Amino acid sequence: MNRRRFVYSSAAVGLTAAVTPRALFAQAPTIMNSKSIKPVVISSANGNKFKNGGDMTCVQKAFSMMTQGTDVLDALIAGVNIVELDPLDTSVGYGGLPNADGIVQLDSSCMHGPKKRAGGVAALEGVRTPSLVAKAVMEQTDHHLIVGAGAQSFARGLGFKIEDDLNTEESRKLWLEWKRRTDPSHYLDPQKRAEAGRRVMMEMVAEGLIDRQHIYGTINCDGINAKGEICGVTTTSGLAWKIPGRVGDSPILGAGLYVDGEVGAAGSTGRGEANLYNLCSFLIVENMRKGMHPKDAGLEACRRIKGNTVEKRLLNNKGNPNFNINFYALNAKGEYAGVSMYPSASYAVCTEKGPATVPCEPLLEGQPED
Ligand code: ASP
Repeated sequence: MNRRRFVYSSAAVGLTAAVTPRALFAQAPTIMNSKSIKPVVISSANGNKFKNGGDMTCVQKAFSMMTQGTDVLDALIAGVNIVELDPLDTSVGYGGLPNADGIVQLDSSCMHGPKKRAGGVAALEGVRTPSLVAKAVMEQTDHHLIVGAGAQSFARGLGFKIEDDLNTEESRKLWLEWKRRTDPSHYLDPQKRAEAGRRVMMEMVAEGLIDRQHIYGTINCDGINAKGEICGVTTTSGLAWKIPGRVGDSPILGAGLYVDGEVGAAGSTGRGEANLYNLCSFLIVENMRKGMHPKDAGLEACRRIKGNTVEKRLLNNKGNPNFNINFYALNAKGEYAGVSMYPSASYAVCTEKGPATVPCEPLLEGQPED
């Protein structure tokens, strides 16, 4: 039993002898309202960066809709739609960096705390807003995850616009440059892929062709309203130039996103494989259930990843993970945090004071490639 229900039922037990059922019923809203939560929306840093020509970022839009009474998940999805549709964010939705064949394949999931429902899509092609298709899976089916051609056909059936190509001029140009520099046969050899793929990516980062955040890059957005209703959504184009069909952590419940309406929400951006192996969003929520603050629960997930990262190709010279990964978490009290394996990541937050971008709390010093 969660604390709110406990407070309500113990108060009710104490009152039963003295009041009529009608009067007892009248007590409920007072008890609930006395525990009102300060609403908050958090997201990865891109949730405070892109506006797609409008006047609000993702967290602003989500916060404003949520506090005006829109369902929390609908508000969060309206927020991430801004980033999905903005061609300038090359890590999410339209204009996301494509897979090795030059095709944009998108992953997304959403979870609704109060309704205890969830939906996801993976390797979806041709729809700019995979988060809305994930929501349709949640609302209109008895399933949690639909992938590939099936996901596209599901979306088409519901009237989503299907496009031949979600590349922008920019994402195509970057893919062609990557292709020019690499040998596609390296897929058959994980060691070679890691070395060649990463070397080329890093070259392109060093030359300013792509932003480090966009090798990986995703948006996770979580919110809680004044009634304590918690939801979350994650949406991404995944790892740049991934093997076609590769699915990351974002659409996988417990990995890229997990929400328990009584406890809290957690989501992730960064190296999806490390998160898939450790199911960190679930781990974070479970640790919050045990009473950990979102920051401590997030850092514990980074520690778990560090402990389970053993392959040589994923370790740097210091024996630490050679990738970054970030977690965003909030609990049912409205406390929240952003954490990362390494410094320099940040996260977006919007409260009644307005939007802000805040540094994530890092587990390690230095940078992945040290
Ligand atoms: N986690 C995503 C994935 O691995 C990518 C990212 O967040 O950067 O697909």
